[in-house]
Amino acid sequence: MTQKELLELIKTPGMIDYAALKTPEALALFPETLSQLLGQAEAHFEALLKMSDEDLDYETFIDPFFTNDEILNVLFKAIDSFNSTDSSDQTRKIIADFQPKLVDYYNKVNLSGELYQKLKHIESQPLSAHQKRSLELILRGMEVAGVHLPEEKREVLKKINKQLSELSEAFNNNVIDSKAEFFFETNDESILSEMPEEDKQAAQKEAKQRQSKSAYVFTLSPPSYIAIMRYCNDASVRELFYKANNQVACSGKKDNRPVALKILKLRQEKAALMGFKSYAEYILQERMAPSPEKVLEVLGAVNDRAGKEAENNIEALKQYAKKDDFEAWDLSYYAEKLKKETFHVDDKALKPYFAFGNVVEGLFKMIKTLFDVEMRPVDVPPYAPGAMTFEVYRNDEHIAYYFLDPFTRPEKRPGAWANDIRSGYENSKGEYHLPVVINVCNFPQPTDGKPSLLTHRDVETLFHEFGHAIHVMLSSRNLPNLNGFNTEWDFVEAPSQILENWCWEYEVLSQFATHYQTGEVIPNELVENLKASKNFMSGLFLVRQNEFGFLDYLLHHEPVPETVAELDQTCFEISDRYSPFKKFDGFSMYTAFSHIFAGGYSAGYYSYVWAEILEADLFEKAKELGILSRDFGQKYAEEILAPGSQRPPMDLFVDFTGHEPSIEALFKKHGIVG
Ligand SMILES: [Zn+2]
Repeated sequence: MTQKELLELIKTPGMIDYAALKTPEALALFPETLSQLLGQAEAHFEALLKMSDEDLDYETFIDPFFTNDEILNVLFKAIDSFNSTDSSDQTRKIIADFQPKLVDYYNKVNLSGELYQKLKHIESQPLSAHQKRSLELILRGMEVAGVHLPEEKREVLKKINKQLSELSEAFNNNVIDSKAEFFFETNDESILSEMPEEDKQAAQKEAKQRQSKSAYVFTLSPPSYIAIMRYCNDASVRELFYKANNQVACSGKKDNRPVALKILKLRQEKAALMGFKSYAEYILQERMAPSPEKVLEVLGAVNDRAGKEAENNIEALKQYAKKDDFEAWDLSYYAEKLKKETFHVDDKALKPYFAFGNVVEGLFKMIKTLFDVEMRPVDVPPYAPGAMTFEVYRNDEHIAYYFLDPFTRPEKRPGAWANDIRSGYENSKGEYHLPVVINVCNFPQPTDGKPSLLTHRDVETLFHEFGHAIHVMLSSRNLPNLNGFNTEWDFVEAPSQILENWCWEYEVLSQFATHYQTGEVIPNELVENLKASKNFMSGLFLVRQNEFGFLDYLLHHEPVPETVAELDQTCFEISDRYSPFKKFDGFSMYTAFSHIFAGGYSAGYYSYVWAEILEADLFEKAKELGILSRDFGQKYAEEILAPGSQRPPMDLFVDFTGHEPSIEALFKKHGIVG
């Protein structure tokens, strides 16, 4: 393969041939080609800046920007995607070498005062509504980065950003290292008698790897921790794990307390530099939530109602456990037991009804019913074992391409996700490049003569990820930054989460959930059981999520503590106030709260419950119009999905439902009444 051939694979307005892109000879050309495309983008950027103001308009200035960056993006997204699904030394090295250069380029663009002035000039010209919105979003993004600040403030900002990224990394490393120090060895079969075989096997494997003298080793890694909290019948062991998990990186050499304090102070400084009262307020510039007060009001309202339900939940558990001194570490254990006894929900009994092929067929059939969207399989060699390619049609119009990479393999990152490999854009010749979107999952591989059988949780995952995919597919031919995923961050999970609702409905399940051997349709009784178990202990679930939401939000909205001791005290008080359990002395969850100190969720943890309120409310509309009705599908596709970011999501939402998001829908969804 030559570089020219590689570029043709990327530049095509048609399907991107992933199988060809993934060959070793194509991969060998990636580093050089990426560098070259970046060089071109940079040269183009410089040339644009030289244009005189009279020549500037949207078509001559902004369109070429999109086209240029898009080709580079498609190639980078491809390698990024391969690195997630088929990671190798080669893919890792390509990313590690190139990513910093790409980040530098975008920093340069976003912080270019010259570019900002030119865009401001174009903003004053007559523009179409879409162009105006697209430009508004570009300018907003640059302002969030600080482009409009005077030179000396921008220099300070750069220093803060650099420090923040170093501190985040240090925070993360401390969490990993501190967690790794804890492990628990045992030979005592009696305390593990209720634990599923696979969890015990994992603990045996851990023991072997560590050359332990004991048969089992458990750690704080999530599957191991969950296994202990749910199934270990010795309360003192659960207590040990609970306390260790809530005292990660809070002392000694891996102490995250000063790191967290420094991060909060720098974020506060950054917000002040930009003219905001708090970091939470600064973050909201690019969010759907209108103000910190509104976020706190929502968290408070959830807490009031769910808090009462959580108390009922705990009361029920106490009675069941016949234990007066019921503690936080007893929760998962007794909840798991009671759930099993009450609902008899059993993955083993459900799985035969969820053969992978049937599930996909059922999902596509539902999509056709709702949106008149047809998934037509394309007969091309799969780019990975089991991977599938589809052309997506709506009313016989070709609207997108879709890849599905369903099965687990050793080189694949765990979890499931959706990516827009190509956002959809028009090049200078007026050719429209349709969006290409991919869903990746980690379902079990089919074996000889036996299809891949999914759990109901897996089915829900597929529906969720497909919800993201359909958001991209159904985006009308927009300007690239107005498409599907490019929406406010606290809205983007609404279209995915809403689709999960359908896989809990018998009306939907009865259409595809048939036993893979006998062909029998899933019994209604099984589905009813499953549904009943869904809201088990939902008060506790919401309250726990809310405790994290409050901690994150108050830390980023109220004045930052002066000292580590004050920070300790503040965090303890917040957690204690919003938790149904009294926190033990030394409780320090925040020192391992990587979501907000080392991830992208700072002042954003609320978005979990926010998006859930939105989708629950939107689903009320589906129930009103009929969950399999074209009336709903058409309206939802046209008013929520197709516009993408053409208008602010709150406007789309209010026009669609006729009201502002209602928290009642969330409680209804979780079966919390009264
Ligand atoms: Zn999602």
